[in-house]
Amino acid sequence: MEAIPKPREALRVPPNLADYAAVRAGFSWEGARAELDGLPGGRGLNIAHEAVDRHAGGALADKVAIRWLGKAGAAQDYSFARLAAESNRFANALRALGVGAGDRVFALTGRIPQLYFAALGAWKNRSVFCTLFSAFGPEPIRMRMALGDAAVLITTEALYRRKVAQIRAALPMLRHVLVVREGGELPEGAHDFDALLAGQSDAFEIPPTDPEDMALLHFTSGTTGTPKGAVHVHQAVVAHHATGKLALDLHADDVFWCTADPGWVTGTSYGIIAPLSLGVTSIVDEADFDAERWYEILAREQVSVWYTAPTAIRMMMKSGTELARSRPVPRLRFLASVGEPLNPEAVRWGVEAFGLPFHDNWWQTETGGIMVANFAAMEIRPGSMGKPLPGIEAAVVRQEKDGTVTLIEDPDSEGELALKRGWPSMFRGYLGQPERYAKCFAGDWYLTGDLAKRDADGYLWFVGRKDDVIKTSGHLIGPFEVESVLMEHPAVAEAGVIGKPDPVAMEVVKAFVSLRAGHEPSEALAREIMAHARKRLGAVVAPKEIAFSPSLPKTRSGKIMRRLLKARELGLPEGDTSTLESG
Ligand code: ATP
Ligand code: MG
Repeated sequence: MEAIPKPREALRVPPNLADYAAVRAGFSWEGARAELDGLPGGRGLNIAHEAVDRHAGGALADKVAIRWLGKAGAAQDYSFARLAAESNRFANALRALGVGAGDRVFALTGRIPQLYFAALGAWKNRSVFCTLFSAFGPEPIRMRMALGDAAVLITTEALYRRKVAQIRAALPMLRHVLVVREGGELPEGAHDFDALLAGQSDAFEIPPTDPEDMALLHFTSGTTGTPKGAVHVHQAVVAHHATGKLALDLHADDVFWCTADPGWVTGTSYGIIAPLSLGVTSIVDEADFDAERWYEILAREQVSVWYTAPTAIRMMMKSGTELARSRPVPRLRFLASVGEPLNPEAVRWGVEAFGLPFHDNWWQTETGGIMVANFAAMEIRPGSMGKPLPGIEAAVVRQEKDGTVTLIEDPDSEGELALKRGWPSMFRGYLGQPERYAKCFAGDWYLTGDLAKRDADGYLWFVGRKDDVIKTSGHLIGPFEVESVLMEHPAVAEAGVIGKPDPVAMEVVKAFVSLRAGHEPSEALAREIMAHARKRLGAVVAPKEIAFSPSLPKTRSGKIMRRLLKARELGLPEGDTSTLESG
């Protein structure tokens, strides 16, 4: 596999991690913690203090922390001092409502400023913050709030009317609903969010916070089944801070844009906590994906570090390289991606479109922060997730029948990706499912459920999820490898690959493909794509069947749901589809 040379622009700024081996050798989580302040007087560690209060009380008070871009075009800047004051008001409001430590504060809103005040204020009050993606339907919302024992819900007038009103009676534990007004009536029994805050003091002293106090409840994406509620604690901020610096290479004068919604873990860990704790200015865009709008934002806001996802990158690729090149982005210097495997094609497209490659990194809701990354200073091997973060020990393992794990040392051998437990942002439980949590661990190792291999130079390569691996004629095939090769074909925009049961081979590889603009499905095209795949992968691994589809089923966070492709192929029940993107 060819390496991508470092373009000159990318090296303008000396990387925070210049020498991987040296930084790794010198790294300790105690040292990382020492870069944070801790609560004054040694009263513990609280995410919100690290994210805003310590900056608001210092040289960064007036610096823009969040530049919010409204759907309709308005922009509003929030300084660290302003964020500290607004979150203090929210913390005081919670206190006035009798909401305290450990109580669950849910948010169901779009990306509006109040969401950010609420997250920070909830942490100040030592309540547990939990976001719900605003496109969820009423039942997924009810289910998550019931499981999470929601005491408070913050939402908007429109979302209340469309999604909450009908489930309100089924949520007896929900004590308070705070509604952001949009010019209409306040629902009965609800509080007016802005009016409530306006009546509060903007001073609040964060009570002593144990680093192990629960801070966040995040539901997984539901790609493989029913979403799980992962519990995170305040000291996760140590990992957010360190990984924002080392993996995303954030520097003080960066303008950072994390495109993920806080309804997913990326949108909180890196859309809120990491950049704020590093004192970096972030862009928050209220609007949904739109290629032209995104290019405009990158250019106009002078974004320098951009963290996005393969699904968005593929959509941008679909809309053409010309459009990408139509606006100069001279300040852009570091591109990163997470959430799904990043096809080598997409890495290379970054170079074509922006003169910069995308840096893939890997992590999960459970890990709370980036665990494996292509670092700024490192040579990128397109298709690889990169190397483990300093402080993270990653291994490729095999779990034996007795439950113990054996490390697989041979390069390029596949096994389950495992992480040595003990990093600060590791999840502390699956809410209400202690056995399931326990099953994720074997001794000191956390088993991720993903398969990977490590090459002789220590780069990790994603093979597939354990559940998605295809067994054909005695071979194990990861869908990612096949999908990436399919994407090399100029007509292919997206590909999802499954194993279709077969009496002889056990399973055969079947591919679902959506086409780029200007290409039409045909028998001839299917044959051409299959021939390309056979040439690149060999007859055993290449798909035996191709089905064209205008789009592939995805989670609302943009992950291809192979389990749905398979269920539909086999005519089986679809299972939990609460996170399925509609339309
Ligand atoms: P669920 O656990 O409910 O099925 P999910 O695993 O998709 O959902 P997340 O925690 O949001 O929920 O996603 C983490 C998973 O996403 C990883 O375990 C991995 O399978 C995939 N993933 C994330 N980043 C990458 C990456 N860079 N390369 C390959 N896969 C990735
Ligand atoms: Mg998962």
